[in-house]
Amino acid sequence: MEMFDEFGPEKILEVYNPKVGMRGFVVIDNTSLGPGKGGTRMTPSVSKEEVFRLARTMTWKNALADLPFGGAKSGIIADSKKIDREKKKTIVEAFAEGLKVVSPSQYIAAPDMNMAEEEMKWYAEKNGDMKSCTGKPKDLGGLPHELGSTGFGVYHSLLVAAPYAGLDIDKATVAIEGFGNVGWFVAKFLKEHKCKLVAVSDSSGVIYNKKGLDFKKLAKVKKEKGKVTAYGEGEVMPSNDILDVDADILVTAAIPDLVKGSDVDRLKFKMIVEGSNIPMIEAVERECFKKGILMVPDFLANAGGVISSYVEYTGGGEEEMFKMVEEKIKKNTEMVMKAAKEKGVLPRDAGMEIAVERVMEKCKVCRV
Ligand code: NAD
Repeated sequence: MEMFDEFGPEKILEVYNPKVGMRGFVVIDNTSLGPGKGGTRMTPSVSKEEVFRLARTMTWKNALADLPFGGAKSGIIADSKKIDREKKKTIVEAFAEGLKVVSPSQYIAAPDMNMAEEEMKWYAEKNGDMKSCTGKPKDLGGLPHELGSTGFGVYHSLLVAAPYAGLDIDKATVAIEGFGNVGWFVAKFLKEHKCKLVAVSDSSGVIYNKKGLDFKKLAKVKKEKGKVTAYGEGEVMPSNDILDVDADILVTAAIPDLVKGSDVDRLKFKMIVEGSNIPMIEAVERECFKKGILMVPDFLANAGGVISSYVEYTGGGEEEMFKMVEEKIKKNTEMVMKAAKEKGVLPRDAGMEIAVERVMEKCKVCRV
């Protein structure tokens, strides 16, 4: 991907503190809709190109979610496995100090790889403004990850999209890849309906039972034994065999590149809801769509997390978060599915068109 194009990035700020050993940068891609929002990752190999790609993804995701946020992302070059907590704190604080000139006015940080609640606390306290990041601990106004905002959004996206695939949610069968923060909550909320959860996977494998899996029992087994394959009643298969399951809906909620081009022929699903990020490359998504599978794209379905961040940013609580995630995800999914149906295009394309239009409408720097 070319680093500079008609949309941005507007600003790249590099920060360096040799005394502390901190080096990092923020890529503020586009702020037409509001301050750039996106996580901070800490890895030894993080590069500006990688961060730019992620920042651009945030520009479209925030626009499609209809939030007053632009797109941005930041990186700290450090190996979190090789430094202790105190050293990490010093580095994060030096990074926060360096970014003060743009944060929170043009950049709002969030957790990403090796950066979680405590790191956000250090960042916010050093910055001095609680609006400088989201994903903070509860006592600083944070909305915990454990509330399951992303899974809640994926679930609502699935409900709205199902009729577009000709499915009745009370008669459909569902398979979920991954039983972590996202997958768990999708399964939990789906229990409110009569659809049958026939397969769930995690890194230990797939548990498949065409008569249906009981969520409560599955959750207990996962908590106590650490793996869904310990469920007992059903067939156990390798993780990747989730793709062979005979179910109407697949929810992806674990690894990138789950579906490869060579897998498309074997899929029997009528709809795939992308709870995880990039479960397949765009070309594979197109192949699936050509085969007649309704594809609900990641930047539409899994925006619950960033909507929750917006609620935290504006000082809202749990109740407001669930309300806003439900409203926005339902509305945006309906809009994308309707446009995709009318135009006969891949839902990702319909979603991109909406996101680009929203950015262009307010953009002062974009080249039309
Ligand atoms: P998590 O770490 O809580 O859970 C991941 C789950 O995937 C675990 O159950 C793990 O056992 C399972 N897993 C690992 N390898 C697997 C494999 N080969 N096959 C099947 N399962 C496997 O992660 P999460 O927060 O649930 O995130 C899942 C995906 O959703 C990621 O792609 C993440 O980027 C994306 N996502 C998460 C959020 C969020 O708020 N949590 C927001 C947007 C996107």
